[in-house]
Amino acid sequence: MWDIMVDKTRLFLLGRDADTVVAQIANECSSFVADDEDEWVADEECSCYNCRYRRWTQESFRCMAG
Ligand code: SF4
Repeated sequence: MWDIMVDKTRLFLLGRDADTVVAQIANECSSFVADDEDEWVADEECSCYNCRYRRWTQESFRCMAG
């Protein structure tokens, strides 16, 4: 589900439309921090797509949390 980058960040491999999966990941992630609400893109508040640590890529996002 993730590719580990050279800088140790992780690239999510299922893209930008895997809402159910990223909600589940975020629910189990101790690093989740909600981004500013105007940056949210998912309906579920607790979602990688709404997390302060995600950085969008063209196809998906990277998780910058350590
Ligand atoms: S983006 Fe990273 S830090 Fe944020 S919830 Fe997902 S896995 Fe956790």
